[in-house]
Amino acid sequence: MKYDLKARVQCNFFSQHYGCNLVCDSCMACKPAKSTEPLMNYRDFTLSAGHRLSRFSHRTYVAMTRPEELSPWICMPGWALETCTRDPMHVIYLGVCRDLLASLLADWMDANLLPAAPTQQERLRLLSLEMHAACKQAKQLVCSLICMLPCAAHAALRQGPCDLTLRTIRISFRRKFFTLANCNLGKAEFPELSTTWKAAEIKVVLWFLSVKAVELTDPLLQAGTACVWSLNEAMSLLDMHDIILPQQEATRFAELMRQSLLYWQLLAGKCHAMGKKCWKLRPKHHVMDHLCDDVQRTRINPRLACSCFQEESYLGHLKRIAVHCSSMRVMERTLQRLLLLLAVRWKHSREAMNEVEAQYTFHDLM
Ligand SMILES: [Zn+2]
Ligand SMILES: [Zn+2]
Repeated sequence: MKYDLKARVQCNFFSQHYGCNLVCDSCMACKPAKSTEPLMNYRDFTLSAGHRLSRFSHRTYVAMTRPEELSPWICMPGWALETCTRDPMHVIYLGVCRDLLASLLADWMDANLLPAAPTQQERLRLLSLEMHAACKQAKQLVCSLICMLPCAAHAALRQGPCDLTLRTIRISFRRKFFTLANCNLGKAEFPELSTTWKAAEIKVVLWFLSVKAVELTDPLLQAGTACVWSLNEAMSLLDMHDIILPQQEATRFAELMRQSLLYWQLLAGKCHAMGKKCWKLRPKHHVMDHLCDDVQRTRINPRLACSCFQEESYLGHLKRIAVHCSSMRVMERTLQRLLLLLAVRWKHSREAMNEVEAQYTFHDLM
């Protein structure tokens, strides 16, 4: 089953979750608190961390949990703790990336690395313009970043220019600007991208900032670079492969993710010691930790098998249709209009396909 963290808890009735001191349903990792064991701190991402020894399998979960706290799903054949997957879209793009990208911007702002302008707001605007220009230049790449094409098409896109694909899929990427408000910057709080940033946009920002970060030379800022670069690299590995990853790639994915977490841990520690609010660590980082091991063990590509991109965008379409329907007959009209929308979409893509086929035969004749 796939869901975000909240639905994971609500659907499965887990008694240990991100809101508790015992932060995880699959191991005994805990939040740092007076009553908890410091060796089991979930914020330790090293390979020798204590919580790694306390991971449990489905059988241990059933044996160890008190009957009244067990998930009712254990009666269902086929359900196991391991079949509750973790969704990289929520954990990474809508989760840790919000903190990562905003913290990176905060660090760059402090180090005076943004384009020169009188106010911070203006400097962020210039950076956004730079991002739009970079996106325009790398149009194919960005398109392959944000669209959900099957893998073969993606791999081809990333290797080289292919105008065929560009014409057939018309991608509209909303031009978004960084502001002090939507990154929660310039306050005495942790920087964080606001919820107006959608997953696909965050994916593009992740790519842009990691390309830009590579140019930095300051050693402390380079830790941030390593953090963002490894995460971007890990995610693009997922983008380029099919549902079952080759063993080598699965291992590389896990290594890159772990590297990113370790650098994060380093930065969070440094900021904490300096009393600076930046590089926040959340229970989502622990989920990411599990995700690396799951991918390495099962070799299942979580982008295709576990992420909720399609589901969420379906809900988005439904909502957009529903707000234009009259409140009296909203249930009926929404579904009717959805069918119409699908019919139009289908017609367009069939026309596009015909165009492509015509082009192919033309080339073959040459
Ligand atoms: Zn855990
Ligand atoms: Zn694409």
